[in-house]
Amino acid sequence: MAREHAADEALDAHLARLLERIGEVARALRWQQATGAGLSPLQIRILGFVSDHPGEPVGVARLAEELQVTRPTVSDSVALLVERGLLLRKPDPHDGRSHALRLTAAGRRWLPAGGPFTEALATLPLHERETLLLALMRLLASLLESGDVQVQRMCWTCAHYRGDRKGRHHCQLLGMDLAVAELRTDCPEHEAAA
Ligand code: SF4
Repeated sequence: MAREHAADEALDAHLARLLERIGEVARALRWQQATGAGLSPLQIRILGFVSDHPGEPVGVARLAEELQVTRPTVSDSVALLVERGLLLRKPDPHDGRSHALRLTAAGRRWLPAGGPFTEALATLPLHERETLLLALMRLLASLLESGDVQVQRMCWTCAHYRGDRKGRHHCQLLGMDLAVAELRTDCPEHEAAA
């Protein structure tokens, strides 16, 4: 029993180290990409977030919350992106005092396209990718419950989700069963489950 427990702990420690290393690789890749574009990694993340949420009122406050960075830092980065013509500020139709950001054609050119992660993932068989996705979603949900991450609009935490988090997934709002690849981790329709 004690041996099993020790093996469990060793496995967890190994996985935690691997996840950390993958995070470091992602940061290094983003840094390389940003340097090549003359931008900061945060600016690349801002362009990516605005691009992933078309038609939504994305402003400085939302970016700060989603990217977990302070408002003044986001505000400085956004100002530079606007100055370089990569983002446009438009009046927010939902709030007359605020602005929503839009990506320009020039900004779109700097969006990450695929990259080494996508290529590496393509080498895994489908069932392994699906298992990985489900495991990572459970991990994120658990970090959310413990308060270690903040915003996660994923199916697991949504009032509309029905399923077992394993092989059966259904969205009541969309009125359809979801394949693993269709599960969302940043869904605009997400409603936090009570
Ligand atoms: S509304 Fe979005 S997050 Fe919620 S269950 Fe449906 S697809 Fe998932």
